[in-house]
Amino acid sequence: MKIRIDKERCVGNARCWAIAPDLYPLDDEGYIAIEGFDVPDGQEELAKRGARACPERVIEIVED
Ligand code: SF4
Repeated sequence: MKIRIDKERCVGNARCWAIAPDLYPLDDEGYIAIEGFDVPDGQEELAKRGARACPERVIEIVED
C-alpha cells in the first residue's frame, strides 16, 4: 500500500500528523513535508486513519 499526497493543496491543519506523526511529518510551517510514502507493514490502518483525517482530502490511499 502506498500513500500519495497532493502537497500543494495542503492547508496545514495537521490533522494527519495528529493521528500518525511518524507517517505524516510536517515542515517548519506546519504543512505536510512529503509527497507520499510506502506504508510500512502493519501500519496500514494507521496510515488510512491519517488519510481519512485530512479534511482537504489531499491524501490518497493507493492499494497494491
Ligand atoms: S490533514 Fe491534510 S491539510 Fe492537514 S496537514 Fe495533513 S495533509 Fe495537510
